[in-house]
Order: sequence, then C-alpha cells, then structure tokens
Amino acid sequence: MFFKKNRDKEETKKLYKALDTLALINSTQDLDRLIALILNAVKEVMGVEASSLAQVDPKTNEIYFSQAAGGSELVKTIRLKMGEGIAGQVAMTQKPMVVNDVKSSKVHYKLADTKTSFETKGVLCVPLIVRDKTIGVLQALNKLDRQDFSKEDLKIFTSFANQVAVALENARLYNLAVYDGLTGIFDRRYFNAWVDQEFSRVKRYKTNLSLMMFDIDHFKNVNDTHGHQAGDFVLQHLAKTIKRILRRADLFARYGGEEFIIALPETVVEDAIQLAEKCRSIIENESFVYQNKKLPITISIGVSNYRETPEDSVDGFIKDVDQALYLAKEGGRNQVQVYPKELWQQTHLKKAA
Ligand code: GH3
Ligand code: MG
Ligand code: MG
Repeated sequence: MFFKKNRDKEETKKLYKALDTLALINSTQDLDRLIALILNAVKEVMGVEASSLAQVDPKTNEIYFSQAAGGSELVKTIRLKMGEGIAGQVAMTQKPMVVNDVKSSKVHYKLADTKTSFETKGVLCVPLIVRDKTIGVLQALNKLDRQDFSKEDLKIFTSFANQVAVALENARLYNLAVYDGLTGIFDRRYFNAWVDQEFSRVKRYKTNLSLMMFDIDHFKNVNDTHGHQAGDFVLQHLAKTIKRILRRADLFARYGGEEFIIALPETVVEDAIQLAEKCRSIIENESFVYQNKKLPITISIGVSNYRETPEDSVDGFIKDVDQALYLAKEGGRNQVQVYPKELWQQTHLKKAA
C-alpha cells in the first residue's frame, strides 16, 4: 500500500511535468529551441537514453535529422531517402514502428550508428503528421530500464507526437515567413511589421530609435566575375559577421537582394554613427575567401535617427535612411553618411562644445 501510494505520487508528478512541457512546446516559435524542448521531453517521459527528431525536406522529399538529445550531434549529417531505414519507413507508411532488437532488423539504417558512434538497441519511431502530410518522425532510443518498448509506451508516444506535430508545423511556417532563407536573418516583411510597432512606441514615449541601411559596393562585379554562388556566399558571410557585433535588442534584416537594414532601439544618432563606422571597417577588413580566392568586399552605409516632423511616418523615416545610403554611394562608397544633414551637424557641434 505504502509503495503504491508513493508510485502514484511519482506518476502524478511526471504527468504534471509532461503537461507543463506541452504548454511550453505549444508556445515556442524558435525552431531550434522547440526541437530541444521536444527531445528532452521524450527522454524524460519515455525514460530513454536518447531521442531524435527528423524532418521531411519538402523540396527533396529526403529526411534529415535536426538534433538529437543524448546521442551525438553527428546525427545532423545523416540524410535518408523516403523509405530508407526505420525513420524513412515510418515517414513513408505513416505507421509507427517498434523495433526492440535492431541487430536482427533488416530495416535499421546501420550506417547511422557507425556515423554517430551510438549503439542503438531498441527504437520506438512515430510519424509526425499534420493534415495527412508527414512532416517528420520522432524517435525514442534504448529504454533506460533495458526493458522492451511496450504497447503502453507506443500509445503515450503516439499521442505525444500528435501534439508535437502541430507545434512543429506552426514553428516551421512562422520561420518561413519571418526569416530570410539565404542569410537566416529577418526578412523585409517581418522588419516592416516590427518597425511599424516600434515607431508608434518611440513616438508615444519619446524614446530614441536609429536606423542603419547598407548595401554592398559593386556587388554585381562579384557575381559577374566569380559566379552567383560566390555572391550568395558573400551575402551569408556578411550577415554572420555583422550579426556578431549587434546587441540582442537590435533588429537586423535583409531588406532587398544585397541591401540590409538594422533598427537600433534606444540609440542616439552619435552611437548609431559609431556602430555604422565599426560595421564598415569590420567588413572592409574581413576576409571573404571563396574557393581559395579572396574577394574584396566593402559596404556603403546610411544612418538616420527618429525625429518629430509634421508628416511623421515610418515611410518618411525609411526614406531618410535610404537617402543617407544614396549619399554614401554618391560620396564614393565604402563610407558612412547621415541624413538629414542636421543630425550630422548636431553630432559634430556637440563634440566641439
Ligand atoms: P553599387 O555599388 O551601386 O551598389 O553597385 P552594385 O553592383 O552592388 O549594384 P546593383 O544594384 O547594380 O547590383 C546588385 C546586384 O546584386 C545585382 C544582383 O544580381 C545581385 N543580387 C541581388 N540579390 C542576390 C542574391 O540573392 N544572390 C546573389 N548572388 N546576387 C544577388
Ligand atoms: Mg550594391
Ligand atoms: Mg543595391
């Protein structure tokens, strides 16, 4: 009796924990964080040594592993064809699979263990299905109590997977709409929505907001001389380099092909100019090496700061920063310019005083 009561208490605790985790899973939009949450929950709820999640790439119909918990990060190097291995079978048939002794299984993709130096003993694999479409599979590997996966395990895991599938699909759609596919930073649409909100806040509370817009100098030459792929590499490397020096509160977005914008909340114009100069010089000195060739890259930067004007609008603000960028190009490129000019003068007068 005493033991049963204690066991019930443990089970109840576990149930509450699982419910908490599900709530968290349903409210997380960051894809990496969401997957990490899911995988840790699988380990805890199922009592297994490791867990992994694979997604179906809609373009190639291949299956790729995003992350693993408890196993090796090398799982990310594995790509399976539809129908290949246990994960591929489950994705294709949309039916869960329990394999308690993988050694005697013909389906198990043995290379996965070789690649990750992980010894899979038993696998519980369930499909992640949204509106009849397989978006991935979820796996629980090796029960800690060395028992076989039971029917009960399969039932719990399947209902967990059904919940998770919806959360995962939502996060995937959100990521598609919000992030630029090439550089991984925010896209223009997200920037516009964000800056609209921030603009009203700044107007209302009279706080500070600066904008920085930059464009790669003579980028057409890079594409023409070294090819489009080299151009894509430059865009990715540039975004990564700039991102490193920004604060968490700054919003960095790809505004057009080779044009970027950064919103700097609570930033006075002097500090925005200083940051712009830092970005300019970092890019000028960064080595962009593509296929053993060093590509000389510079950027021109425009800076503006929120000010009250009779017409007061986001569009006007963005026109200002665009004009500043135009001046930087006109002035000979690889430089920082400010618009309207009074902002620049203000800064210099302050410095002189
Ligand atoms: P400027 O100094 O005046 O900015 O000269 P530019 O050559 O950079 O300007 P232009 O606007 O003439 O050329 C921009 C080029 O950027 C043209 C276009 O092919 C290239 N581009 C835009 N988006 C991408 C992309 O996603 N990948 C690659 N590789 N190139 C891109
Ligand atoms: Mg350009
Ligand atoms: Mg351009």
